[in-house]
Amino acid sequence: MPPAVRMDGTAVAAQLMTRTAERAAALTARTGVRPCLATVLAGEDPASVSYVKMKQNRARRNGIDSRDVKLPQMASTAELVDVIAGLSANPAVHGILLQHPVPAQIDERAAFEAIAPAKDVDGVTMHSFAAMAFGLPGPASATPGGIMRLLDAYDVDPRGQHAVVIGRSPILGKPVGMLLLARDATVTYCHSKTTGLPGIVASADIVIAAVGRPEFVRGDWIKPGAVVVDAGYNPGVIGDVAFAEAAQRARLITPVPGGVGPMTIATLLSQVVDAARAQVP
Ligand code: NAP
Repeated sequence: MPPAVRMDGTAVAAQLMTRTAERAAALTARTGVRPCLATVLAGEDPASVSYVKMKQNRARRNGIDSRDVKLPQMASTAELVDVIAGLSANPAVHGILLQHPVPAQIDERAAFEAIAPAKDVDGVTMHSFAAMAFGLPGPASATPGGIMRLLDAYDVDPRGQHAVVIGRSPILGKPVGMLLLARDATVTYCHSKTTGLPGIVASADIVIAAVGRPEFVRGDWIKPGAVVVDAGYNPGVIGDVAFAEAAQRARLITPVPGGVGPMTIATLLSQVVDAARAQVP
């Protein structure tokens, strides 16, 4: 079997960003309004600080304003919910991103639910999740939405395929399974209590690794010819898939970095422009 083709998330994301910048510029030319993303960060976790900066810079470079909202590490749920509710009611803000994970004392779900559905550009609310589950239009969770766009860019049609999703978090595993199901894949979810995981993965046409454990998925689990998407991003910039091994058996595979990560940001910003277009008369 020839080694797998790498799915180039950096290149596909750059194309999406170009289209997003064009759509942002067209909206501004027509209405005088620049799309605006509010980023909300509670605390000073260094990784979160750098993710937020990256998203803000990318937004500004592509014609999207960003509003930086910071809360102290010890902020309460009520304080965070108040701030997000204020942004939800502010017509100058079109999209809201709450950087997660939030500090341990905060009820993350309550904070997410304070985001008005029309401004949920990161697809984290129950409203957005329900729309994904029902196959209705609306913002996708950014990473799952980015994964679907990447599959489309490489002409991977999930219809009738067995997709195995390893991970069931509300922002990644569960919604990506829903999006695959909406595209007629046969979806199996695996998680920490799953038994016989290697055997289940071995029957997958499409593997989505969303575990948060470095090189957890081994090459000999992969069915020859499968499509392998590695959503993992572990310290040291290591994915959840043992890339070199898996690339010997897969047909298509995402690298880390340069696979799913860039697609996440590009999808988020594309959804900011969608939200602004829907809100600006
Ligand atoms: P998470 O909330 O910690 O969820 C991890 C999932 O993996 C859980 O469902 C857990 O099962 C499952 N799991 C853990 N150990 C397992 C095992 N031994 N066997 C099978 N399943 C196991 O993580 P997350 O937020 O979904 O993130 C997952 C990975 O994606 C991380 O590396 C994260 O950094 C990365 N990520 C990347 C992006 C991006 O833009 N590239 C965005 C978000 C996340 P249980 O439910 O049973 O605990």
